[in-house]
Amino acid sequence: MNNSVFIFDYPANETVRTYTPGTDERKELVSELNSMASQEMEIPLIIGGKEVRTGNLEPVRMPHDHQHILGRYHKAGEKEIKMAVDAALKAHKEWESFSWFERASITVKAAELISKKFRNRLNAATMLGQSKSAFQAEIDAACETTDFLRFNAHYISDIYHDQPHSDPGIINRLEYRPLEGFVFTVSPFNFTAIASNLNMAPILMGNVTVWKPATTAILSNYVLMEVFQEAGMPDGVLNFIPGSGAQIGEILFNHKEFAGLHFTGSNNTFNKLWLKAAGNLPNYRSYPRIVGETGGKDFVLVHETARSQEVATALIRGAFEYQGQKCSAASRAYIPESLWPSVKEIMGDMISQIKIGDVRDFGNFMNAVIDEASFDNISNYIKMADSSPNAEIVFGGKCDKSTGYFVEPTVIKVSDPHFATMEEEIFGPVLSIYVYKDSKFEETLQLVDETSPYALTGSIFAQDRYVLTAAADRLKYSAGNLYFNDKPTGAVVGQQPFGGSRQSGTNDKSGSHLNLLRWTNPRTIKETLIPPTDFKYPFMQGE
Ligand code: NAD
Repeated sequence: MNNSVFIFDYPANETVRTYTPGTDERKELVSELNSMASQEMEIPLIIGGKEVRTGNLEPVRMPHDHQHILGRYHKAGEKEIKMAVDAALKAHKEWESFSWFERASITVKAAELISKKFRNRLNAATMLGQSKSAFQAEIDAACETTDFLRFNAHYISDIYHDQPHSDPGIINRLEYRPLEGFVFTVSPFNFTAIASNLNMAPILMGNVTVWKPATTAILSNYVLMEVFQEAGMPDGVLNFIPGSGAQIGEILFNHKEFAGLHFTGSNNTFNKLWLKAAGNLPNYRSYPRIVGETGGKDFVLVHETARSQEVATALIRGAFEYQGQKCSAASRAYIPESLWPSVKEIMGDMISQIKIGDVRDFGNFMNAVIDEASFDNISNYIKMADSSPNAEIVFGGKCDKSTGYFVEPTVIKVSDPHFATMEEEIFGPVLSIYVYKDSKFEETLQLVDETSPYALTGSIFAQDRYVLTAAADRLKYSAGNLYFNDKPTGAVVGQQPFGGSRQSGTNDKSGSHLNLLRWTNPRTIKETLIPPTDFKYPFMQGE
């Protein structure tokens, strides 16, 4: 019997490996990449802890070499989707009554496995399957995933220790129950860490999940399942069912025990899922928790006191790392007329040095966009800008899908601040720039705030401290993560809790205790030590 009161100490963030030439870490990663690229992995569903094969197979392709097949995954059908729900519900009772310390131990063990034994495997799968460079895979798959797991174990200790006050003669306590039913988790393609956290945050709080991964991230997501199983995740707690989102959603949202949705993806998909759940409200046992982090149209606002070299560097990294496929990617910038010539010159010089290609060539700063649909969507935006009198393509603009889905880093200068590429999420390496008159900073603040329906991340560059604070105040609701003199990407767990509002999501701040609180259904218990024996109150006595 474990009756200790345990606290997981505040963890350190996982150290980012550099993979510089000649290091052992680089050799080991290259060897894993070669080995994984030379195989065709067969990816089953995992339901109730067992591998399930449906024979309905789909290929897993490298985005940077789309004829290269990395594996094939089995697609869930109606039978398997129902099996996954049943398996989750069967596991619920034992898992929720398991000591939280044991649940957190599994989480921390998974982090340790990713940090050491599975690091190269998870990074290689993320690189090959999602077309991330070694560094982008490292900060996502290895570091952010382990950080989420370790920090959440620390946060849960704090949450459980948070208990109400008790007046003399009574004892009050809060019992942090999980949700009653199962949590449906739907993950995006672009971050392995998010796929892990969407499941592991509710699971840590005692919930069970049915997980629909993005089919374009299946390889790394399956490696996550290998890790969780090796970490000792009991059967049925996490059920992995790749397949059609619409079909899975149809069955899960119609189930009485649907208790919550933990989603990251586009605004459009989230709206559909929320509406689906809302339409079934009277049929559920409880009001479901709906948590979703969605798109962004993230801004960089530059003041005339900013430094051009710093601005250009932030724009290049913020807009083009991982091909602009980060929800936080810089995608619209507002630059004063006085700085534009120097910012443009520095950016042009930097862009001329950017190499694009296969992830196995470590000299490439950029790789491919995720799939053909995404490639076509991005190239259509570029074509539209190219043919518009209100836009000028300053750098890049070429797209080539003959071998892989490659899009050049593209900078569009617009004369209309409401041009479509300033307002809509493109999710590719396309940065739109509006050059404003230095004297119109106040009006530009309004433009930044009102141009896009999203409010995820944003940056303000200025040397003048009064400007920084006044702009932050004016843009209070324009971003959930605001940066001063830094790029708007690269939030670190435990340091910059992540999420935005307006059309960017419910802002439940993954990587903080706030997200975990959404996955608990607290019960308050009051005990009266000596119960009263007379119903009458003193005020009722005669004068
Ligand atoms: P997406 O919306 O296309 O897909 C997300 C997930 O939803 C995938 O697993 C997909 O298969 C599933 N899905 C799609 N239609 C569905 C349906 N009808 N029913 C059930 N599931 C369905 O998004 P994506 O292309 O994978 O990811 C990119 C998007 O995610 C961008 O908009 C980006 O901004 C956003 N994103 C946001 C954050 C954040 O924290 N705010 C983080 C990462 C990505």
